[in-house]
Amino acid sequence: MTEPKTEHKAEQTSNSKPNREFDIIARYFRPLTNGAAGALALQDDAALLSVPDGFELAVTTDCLVGGVHFLETLSPQDIAHKVVGVNLSDLAAMGAMPKVVFLAAQLPKGIQESWIADFAEGLRAALKPSGAALMGGDTVSTPGPVAFTLTAMGHVPKGHALMRSGAQPGDVLCVTGTIGDGALGLAVLTDALSIADSAERDHLIQRYARPQPRWKLAEMMVRTRQIRAAVDISDGLLADVGHICMASGVAAVIDAPAVPLSKAVRGVLAQDPTVLNTILGGGDDYELAFCAPQNAIADLQRLANELGECITVIGRIVASDLENTAPVTVHDKAGRPIIVESQGYQHL
Ligand code: ADP
Ligand code: MG
Repeated sequence: MTEPKTEHKAEQTSNSKPNREFDIIARYFRPLTNGAAGALALQDDAALLSVPDGFELAVTTDCLVGGVHFLETLSPQDIAHKVVGVNLSDLAAMGAMPKVVFLAAQLPKGIQESWIADFAEGLRAALKPSGAALMGGDTVSTPGPVAFTLTAMGHVPKGHALMRSGAQPGDVLCVTGTIGDGALGLAVLTDALSIADSAERDHLIQRYARPQPRWKLAEMMVRTRQIRAAVDISDGLLADVGHICMASGVAAVIDAPAVPLSKAVRGVLAQDPTVLNTILGGGDDYELAFCAPQNAIADLQRLANELGECITVIGRIVASDLENTAPVTVHDKAGRPIIVESQGYQHL
């Protein structure tokens, strides 16, 4: 956003009521504005934003409730990374560069100040790579669990946002990064899975707790103008590829052996082949799935490698078969369809 030139008083005036909420905002959240003038030092009723010529604003919001969308046993820093990560991942799915976030915080009565300080530190760290500024929000206390609603805004070249619609039969289906780490990380944290190797265990937990939104890759993908459809993988690979299929009126075939897996996930799968259901159907990957014409893939992979990231072809888009209710078919290494049990995260 271009910053409006506004002088603003640096501190609360003497007639503002002294209260804990204002103290928390001033102490922990104001530093996260990065001095953006349009944040008005978090002392006014709204922030002022503008969008540079030639861009449009992608806006997304996600509400995360303790015990529902994240484990309350996560550290405050991890929770902050998760809250930021899931939202910036939605921006990445649209091809938008993160610029501004707004945070509505519901804090249980009597929450420790050190918890808030650690959460704010996590927010700072999670926002830093993209340089996105916190420019407003709301802070309330609640008798219920801790919950955060983050609204994230990003810039995308006008008319070139990535969308779920637009996939065509013949397109190649790709994903970024590796799949299944987040779902297995959650399984480790809930004691549904035990892993002997501590480095692999930590890797999976980190992937669950601290998603790495792929906005750098997304920006590159937009620049190529080669992406026909994209989605971020939050509900599970099969469910989210299914979302592309529904929006585009197509079907998809995924070659299970082509799905990129981390060493930790490969190890678990080798012990128990039924874990494939969790890998393909579990959520919390926060990678991107996208479709592009075959002749664009080599360039996309080269550009991804230059960013230190990875793009893998996992299948193809085919014509929708109206007889067939499932839009996504998974094939084994012999090309035979296999049944995957899990149907993705159900929100309601
Ligand atoms: P109002 O009463 O008008 O809703 P508030 O007292 O809730 O205003 O908020 C005062 C200022 O502090 C506003 O600029 C708001 O955007 C900001 N703010 C409140 N909570 C947060 C938060 N959790 N993160 C960032 N900014 C916040
Ligand atoms: Mg107000």
